[in-house]
Amino acid sequence: MSAAFYLQQSGRKVTVLDRGDFLDNCSYGNAGYVCPSHFIPLATPGIVKQGLKWMFDAQSTFYIQPRLNWALIEWGIRFIKSATSQRVEAAAVPLRDIALLSQHEYESWAKLPGFEFAYEHKGLMEIFQTEEKAAHAYHTVEKAHELGLEAMMLDGDALQRMEPQTKINALGAIFFKCDAHLYPDLLMKSLIGHLRKNDVCLISNQEVNRFEYVNGSVKKIITADRSFDADEIVVAAGSWSREMASLLDTRLLLVPGRGYSITLEDSPYRLHYPAVLMEGRVAITPMDGNKIRFGGTMEITSTQTPPRMKRVNGILDTVKRYFPEFDIPMPALDKIWYGYRPCSADGLPYIGRIKKYKNVIIATGHSMLGLSLGAATGKLVDELIHDRPTSIDITAFAVERFGF
Ligand SMILES: Cc1cc2nc3c(=O)[nH]c(=O)nc-3n(C[C@H](O)[C@H](O)[C@H](O)COP(=O)(O)OP(=O)(O)OC[C@H]3O[C@@H](n4cnc5c(N)ncnc54)[C@H](O)[C@@H]3O)c2cc1C
Repeated sequence: MSAAFYLQQSGRKVTVLDRGDFLDNCSYGNAGYVCPSHFIPLATPGIVKQGLKWMFDAQSTFYIQPRLNWALIEWGIRFIKSATSQRVEAAAVPLRDIALLSQHEYESWAKLPGFEFAYEHKGLMEIFQTEEKAAHAYHTVEKAHELGLEAMMLDGDALQRMEPQTKINALGAIFFKCDAHLYPDLLMKSLIGHLRKNDVCLISNQEVNRFEYVNGSVKKIITADRSFDADEIVVAAGSWSREMASLLDTRLLLVPGRGYSITLEDSPYRLHYPAVLMEGRVAITPMDGNKIRFGGTMEITSTQTPPRMKRVNGILDTVKRYFPEFDIPMPALDKIWYGYRPCSADGLPYIGRIKKYKNVIIATGHSMLGLSLGAATGKLVDELIHDRPTSIDITAFAVERFGF
């Protein structure tokens, strides 16, 4: 959708095909962070160690459903290979640059008429309860300063003074002043409204299931009942992009990472700042006035596996451990949102052209950062299509970086 935004602005005639109705995908119920602070990708030595411990606990926050599935095995091998301190270090600058670009772009979207998505640039807390995470936090703040990002350590008292209205059980927090947040549901609504008003053709219920090629270029996109001519194709099918890329003879290491969220529309519990609860990997976002959203879990599973609502108990238990006054009952099943993060094998997005066909760009694999990096990704896609120099170096995001 972001790519459509920029392509329309630069004079292209754009059609967006979705197999759904544009109203239900991962870009809605997420935590809404626009966060240069997240310069550490998903694949880290710590997560591999932790993941093995958590794997068999149904309430844990990171869970890989063991399956004899080649896509998962291939992804897992590359994930472990990517989880080295050198690679984590190398990912920091590209992740910072794309996040800062995105934040800059969202700030300009927020000034457009009709674009209202409760964007607030006030910072984000990463709250910790244990000495182990405190040590990690010190290291993260040092690294943030090296990267030129505004971040500071708060002890428990200083943190409590920032949120005086509710008790917090914590040793301290990192305060990332560099971060912003928004209300994703409103962002999507504004984006869809803007695209429609500007003659971008959004067509629902069109599952792309085939492409036709002529002389090394894709000429037609085929769905069950229609076909569409195209000069340029952008594959941005989230967690389903691996399957779509394989229709284009391209291997993409990508698995779905399911997460859940619940939103209190008129919350009696208030926070001034979004907060990541570090030990439990839960995200809390106060958004759009009185709303507050609680989200978490990373469940590497198939999109066909039924959701495990037990995991929401895990999120709510974690919240209670940090905020003892937050008594949030388990909501009715229809009030629980879940979505599938498109997880690349190293936690960096795939943005760029593919080798096999001349006119195909892939824009996916953003894992936990697809909202944060959305606007920048759209801008980069537009620059690639016009063969212009990109706003930032995108070498680290090369689609075929694993050698295929
Ligand atoms: C609990 C949770 C919290 C999160 N919090 C944050 C956060 O705070 N900040 C952040 O940056 N990110 C966050 N994320 C991650 C973020 O939500 C995702 O990275 C992002 O939404 C992915 O966007 P996408 O456009 O790639 O995929 P999607 O939004 O899933 O869109 C993909 C679209 O492709 C369509 N599609 C699939 N296959 C086909 C086909 N064959 N033909 C036609 N259409 C097809 C689908 O219908 C869908 O509409 C969170 C995720 C979760 C689960």
